[in-house]
Amino acid sequence: MNFERPNIRAMEGYSYGEQPSDAEVVKLNTNELPFPPSPKVAEVLQNFAVASLRRYPPALANDFRDAAANLHNLDRDNIIATRGGDELLRLLFTTFTDPGDVVAMTDPTYSLYPVLAKIQDVTVTQFPMDDDYRPLENFAQQANQAGAKMTFLVNPHAPSGSLLTADQIAQFADQLDSLLLVDEAYVDFVSPEHEYNCLELVNERDDIIFLRTMSKGYGLAGLRFGYGIAHTNIIAPMLTKTRDSYNLDAIGQAVATAALLDQEYAQSCWQKVREQRQRLCAALRHRQFKVAPSEANFLLATVPESGPDANTYYLKLKRRNVLVRFFNVGGLDNKLRISIGSAAENDTLLACLDEIRAGHTD
Ligand SMILES: *Cc1c(COP(=O)(O)O)cnc(C)c1O
Repeated sequence: MNFERPNIRAMEGYSYGEQPSDAEVVKLNTNELPFPPSPKVAEVLQNFAVASLRRYPPALANDFRDAAANLHNLDRDNIIATRGGDELLRLLFTTFTDPGDVVAMTDPTYSLYPVLAKIQDVTVTQFPMDDDYRPLENFAQQANQAGAKMTFLVNPHAPSGSLLTADQIAQFADQLDSLLLVDEAYVDFVSPEHEYNCLELVNERDDIIFLRTMSKGYGLAGLRFGYGIAHTNIIAPMLTKTRDSYNLDAIGQAVATAALLDQEYAQSCWQKVREQRQRLCAALRHRQFKVAPSEANFLLATVPESGPDANTYYLKLKRRNVLVRFFNVGGLDNKLRISIGSAAENDTLLACLDEIRAGHTD
C-alpha cells in the first residue's frame, strides 16, 4: 500500500550536506560558523530553570521578536520567529501558494526551495543568471509572464556569494507582480563598506519578506532558529494561522535571544570570517582556481582545467578528512563550494589542495 499523495510519491527529499560525527573532520561543506556561539549562550544554558519546562513556551517568542525588532529598528509586528529559516520557507508555501501555482527563482539557487514546492504541489520555474551570478535584467518580467505567485532571491546569492545592492532588490520588488522572498541567510557576512540594508522596504511595501537565520552568522545551526521580517500584512497570517502554535521551545527561545543580543561578539566573528574569506580567495586564485567574488561565508571555486576534476578534488579532500561541497549538476560540476573556516582549518585545506595538485595518487 502507498498512502502518499501523488506529488509526494513522485518527489525526492532534500539532499543534505554530510554531517559527520567525527570531530576531527575539517568541515567546510555546510557554511557553519567556524567559531562557537556567544559565551552568553553557555550562561543561559547553565542558568536555565529546568522546572519551567513543565509549562508550554511563550507561543509567539515575543522576547526574541522584541530583540530582533530593536536590532533592526522595526516593530515586533514585523517579525516572526521560526524553527530555522527553513520553517519560514515552508510557512510561505503553505500560507501564500495553492497546489498548481507557479513560483519563480534563479538557477542556481538554494536547493530546498524546489523540494518545498513539490511538497505543496507547486510548479517551479527557474531563470538563468549571468556569468557573475546575477539575475538577468528581465528576471522580474519573466517571473510575471510565468504567472509566479511567489519569487525567490538569495542575497548574498547561494551558492556563489554574489551581492545585489539594496537598490537592485527594490527595483525587482517594484517590477514583480508576486510576493518576493529575499533570503538573507548570509547577510551578516557582507562587508560593511557596501552599506547593504534593505529592511526599510518593509515599512513601504507589503509584498516583500526577508529571511534571517541564527544558523550561519550566530553559530547556532544545531539550535534551529530563524526569523522573517516583513510588513504585518505578511507576518500576521503566518503568526496567527499557519504556524504550529508552539513552534519554538523555551530553551531555544532563550538561547537565540541571548545570542542575538550579543552583537559585539557576533560582529567580531563576522569580521574574522571576512578576513579569512579574503585570504582564502587570494590563496585559491594563486592556485589557478577561478573564484567568484563572495560576500557570504563561502567561496564558489572553479577547479583549474589542467588537473583533477571537481569531483576528484572533493573525494581526495574527503579522504584527507576535509569536507567541501560538490554539486553534481550542470553548471556547478566543475566547481567546489568551500565554507570559510578558521585560519587553521583554511591552512589544512590549502595544504591538502597542494598535495592533490602535486599529483599524490590517493
Ligand atoms: C542556511 C540557509 C537557510 C536557513 O537555514 P536554517 O538552518 O533552516 O535557518 C536559508 N536559506 C539559505 C540559502 C541557507 O543557506
